[in-house]
Amino acid sequence: MGDCLFCRILKKEIPSKPVFEDETTYAFHDIHPQAPTHILVISKKHVAGVAELQPEDEGLAGRLILRARQIAEDLHLKSYRLVFNSGPEAGQSVFHIHLHLLGGRRLHWPPG
Ligand code: AMP
Ligand code: ZN
Repeated sequence: MGDCLFCRILKKEIPSKPVFEDETTYAFHDIHPQAPTHILVISKKHVAGVAELQPEDEGLAGRLILRARQIAEDLHLKSYRLVFNSGPEAGQSVFHIHLHLLGGRRLHWPPG
């Protein structure tokens, strides 16, 4: 996916501020943070989003959540929110699956 923004970040064609990396997953700071902590946890495999996950991506999806939890623990976040935006009307703007990790302030509900 040569023109995918997050694939380009993974190839280091576009700089990012890393938080965590392993064989399957990369996490970096969101460029427009919506909270004191706003980290994106992405799969190294290009999947366009939650709606495009296949049954064989169960492990991929689970790892995003578990890596996000580990990062939250490492940052000593007592409360935090994990968000997948799925589709443009829900706010998805980058079509490479990513989990938002938000924390460091009171988060309101329902979200806007
Ligand atoms: P979403 O709107 O759920 O698709 O989330 C995409 C997120 O990517 C937004 O929160 C953007 O601020 C963030 N973003 C866009 N470009 C970059 C970039 N170059 N580096 C880091 N985060 C980015
Ligand atoms: Zn991609």
